[in-house]
Amino acid sequence: MTTGLESIYISPHLDDAILSCAGRIVREVAAGAQVCVINICAGAPDYSHLSAFAAELHTVYGDPTDAVAQRIAEDRAVIEGLGARVMNWDYLDAVYRHEHGHWLYPDRDAIFGPLHPADRILAGQIGERLAAFWRQHPHSTLFMPLGAGHHVDHLLARDAARWLLTTGLPGSDGRALRFYEEYPYIEEAGALAAAQAEIGPSHWQPEVAPIDVAARLQAMAGYQTQVVHLFGDQARELAAMQDPATWSAFVAAAHRQMVSRVERYTQSIGPSDPAAHHPFSAERYWSYAPQ
Ligand SMILES: [Zn+2]
Repeated sequence: MTTGLESIYISPHLDDAILSCAGRIVREVAAGAQVCVINICAGAPDYSHLSAFAAELHTVYGDPTDAVAQRIAEDRAVIEGLGARVMNWDYLDAVYRHEHGHWLYPDRDAIFGPLHPADRILAGQIGERLAAFWRQHPHSTLFMPLGAGHHVDHLLARDAARWLLTTGLPGSDGRALRFYEEYPYIEEAGALAAAQAEIGPSHWQPEVAPIDVAARLQAMAGYQTQVVHLFGDQARELAAMQDPATWSAFVAAAHRQMVSRVERYTQSIGPSDPAAHHPFSAERYWSYAPQ
């Protein structure tokens, strides 16, 4: 096992680390740091046995033969293109998870609802696996999602972070744990405060990291399958797919949306730094110190 990683980014899905932290990752790699992204929910399901909800999502993705493999390839191209490493763990995405023949999350409401009891055990298992990996990299910072937006896969990773905080690993021999703001969920009013309150009310310390927003946008644009879903007009997406000319206009509009929203968000963070003398683009990371 390679040692000496300086930053480990934990991504619930095959895009979250880059959508949320690409600016910082680009800076770290440019400064010579060893950076790794771990995708938690990168396991391939049994495609012959999908819930109605998962099948519907596959239709929106254009029914690829192997939807997960397609996203793994897309994600690897972006992350390795930035000069970072990527590891894919084989946990299933929430829409594919089942227990005793029952889907844990059979619809969209469930995906943004409470964590299923079976997943609370899974969060501890992921925490243990992360701890084992982290022990091999004693001078590294682990970046974990806050759970902003309340997607159950993000809550799973967040609860693994809480598990790590209670085991006492952070802070010992130079290790540190930071939470990142999940983009685009974090744009929703109140999402940050709600996520922080769920972890714990006390002593959140922000760290404002200046970024090159153009580099962040370039990395994000590599997720072609996701950009259209995240920034396109979802009500028009299926219809737009029927005609190549309409589709290319739809994709271009989604990209323009992404650029203006990311610029607005990253510029809103820069001025929150008390040391700032002029506006700049930034990402924000949080450390949590329970009393
Ligand atoms: Zn996600």
